[in-house]
Amino acid sequence: MEGPVGQKEKKQEFTLVAVSDLASSSSESQSKPVVARFSDDSGLAELRFYKESESATAINVDLRTAQIFKLSSVQSVCLTEGSDSTEETSYSRGVTVQFRNEEESRAFHCAFKQWKEEVLEGKPLPNGTIAATKSKFDDKIEASSAKMYFHYYGQLLHQQNMLQDYVRTGTYYAAVIENRADFVGRVVVDVGAGSGILSLFAAQAGAKHVYAVEASEMAEYARKLIVGNPSLGQRITVIKGKVEEVELPEKADILISEPMGTLLVNERMLESYVIARDRFLVPGGKMFPSVGRIHMAPFSDEYLFIEIANKALFWQQQNYYGVDLTPLYGSAFQGYFSQPVVDAFDPRLLVASPTYHVLDFTKSKEEDLYEIEIPLRFTASVGARVHGLACWFDVLFNGSTVQRWLTTAPGAPTTHWYQLRCVLTQPIYVMAGQEITGQLRMVAHNAQSYTLYLTLMAKMWGPGAEQGGIIQASSCKLDLKEPYYRMSQPQAYPLAQDQQSHPLINTQDIQIQSQDFEEAELMQHPSPNSGAQMNSMVENN
Ligand code: SAH
Repeated sequence: MEGPVGQKEKKQEFTLVAVSDLASSSSESQSKPVVARFSDDSGLAELRFYKESESATAINVDLRTAQIFKLSSVQSVCLTEGSDSTEETSYSRGVTVQFRNEEESRAFHCAFKQWKEEVLEGKPLPNGTIAATKSKFDDKIEASSAKMYFHYYGQLLHQQNMLQDYVRTGTYYAAVIENRADFVGRVVVDVGAGSGILSLFAAQAGAKHVYAVEASEMAEYARKLIVGNPSLGQRITVIKGKVEEVELPEKADILISEPMGTLLVNERMLESYVIARDRFLVPGGKMFPSVGRIHMAPFSDEYLFIEIANKALFWQQQNYYGVDLTPLYGSAFQGYFSQPVVDAFDPRLLVASPTYHVLDFTKSKEEDLYEIEIPLRFTASVGARVHGLACWFDVLFNGSTVQRWLTTAPGAPTTHWYQLRCVLTQPIYVMAGQEITGQLRMVAHNAQSYTLYLTLMAKMWGPGAEQGGIIQASSCKLDLKEPYYRMSQPQAYPLAQDQQSHPLINTQDIQIQSQDFEEAELMQHPSPNSGAQMNSMVENN
C-alpha cells in the first residue's frame, strides 16, 4: 500500500487475495495475489485490478461510474459501467474483491472514496479535467431540501411513526404475504427501504434476494435489523444511496416501495420510484404498488373556513403596542389559505360524489410527474356553500393471487396521511343537482413538493341568474410543502351514556373539556397513531 491520494506520484496500490468478475461463470480462485492500483497515468483516474506479470488480463474500473459495497468485513463488490478498453462502455459489470484482512478492506474503501471524490470534484488531473457528474435527483432537488429530508428519515422515531400506522404496514404485509407467488424465488428491489421492513416482508414471502436501497442514515439501522433477523437477512443486501445513483449487481423481477406522500405526490418520491423502475426492473416486471389514484370532491365545512379566516384576525389590530398591524392583514389572510389542511374529516362534509385521477407507476414517465393537470366536474348532491376541494388517495397492489387497495379515504380507518383539503378564500354557492367544474393543477418544485392551483366554478343561482349566466369562480394557490396539521387537540374518548367506567379509574378524576368532545365529534379520527407527533416539515410516507 502506498501513500494517500494527493502525493506526487498519483498512484496507490493494494494487494488482494482474489478478484472475480461477476459476469464470468468460473469463480476464479486466484493462485497469485492480485494487485489493485489506483492511478491517473492516462490522465483519467482509474482503478485497475491485475495479477503481477499478467497485466494483459486486467480489469479496468472507471471511477466516474463506480460504486463499491461491502459484502462482509473482507469482501466487497465493485459495480461500474463497463470500461475495459477492449469492450463497449454501455453495460454494467461487477467485480467481487477479497481482501487479506478487515483493516486492508477499510483502507481500500477509504482510498476508493477519496479517488472517486477527486474525480467527481473535477480536480485537474495531469492530462485534463473531468467534469463533476450530478445525478437526476441532485439536478432537480435543492440540496438543503434533500439534506433535511434525508435527515428526517434517518431518525428511528419517524420510521416508527410509519411502522405504527397499522393500516399502512398491515396492508403492505397482507399484499405481500397473500401474493407469495409474485415473490418466491424472485429478485426484489425495495425502493427507499427505510427500516428495511418491506424487504423483510419480501424475504418472508420467499424472495431469492432483496436489495434494500436507502439514501438516509436509516440504512445503517436497516442493516442492524436485518442482521438481527438472520433467517431472512441472509437474503437481503442493504445498499446505502439514492436509487438515482446506486448500481445493483442484477435486475429485479419486482419492485416494492412506499413512496406516497400527502396527496400521493408530496415529497416527489414517485419520481424516484419510476426512475428505479427504469434502472432496475426487468421488462414486464411487477411493481408493488403499481397504480395510485388521487380522489377529489368538493366539501362544505363552515367551521374550518371560519377557523382559518380567524387566524388572520390578529393582523387587524390597529394598536398593537402602538403599531398598526393592518398593512399585513391581507398577506396573512392569503398565507393561511395557502396551507392545505391535513386532518381526518367526516365524509358527510362532501357535497358531491368524488372523481379520481390515475397515476400508473408502471407506465408514467418521470417527467409526467413534474406537472399534473386534473380537470374537475361534479354534480352537487345538496345545496351548500362549497369551501374547497377535499383530496385523498389510494394505491393498488396488483398481485397475481390477490388484488389489494391501500386507501386513505375519509370514513375508512385513518392512516398517518389523513386527508387533505384545499380551502378557498371565497366559498361558492351551489344548489342540489348543480354542476361544479374547475381544475386542480399541481406543479412540482425543487423543495420536493408541489404548488397547487385550484379553481372551482359554478353558475350563479338566485333571482336573475338564468338571464345573465353569471359564473361564480374561486381560485387559490397552495404550497403542499406547508400543510396545516389540524390535529393538535388531544383526543377525548367519548364514553357512551350507558357505558361503565373502568373499575380502576374514577371518571370524575378525568377532566374532559367540552371542547374536546366537540373536536372529537367533528374530526372523527380514531387514529392508529394518535400518540405520534406529525412533523410539520416532512409529514408523511
Ligand atoms: N419502506 C419503508 C420506508 C418508507 S419512507 C417503509 O415502508 O416503512 C420512504 C423512504 O425512502 C425514506 O426512508 C427515505 O429516506 C427513502 N428515500 C426517499 N427517496 C429516496 C431515494 N431517491 N433514494 C433512496 N431512498 C430514498
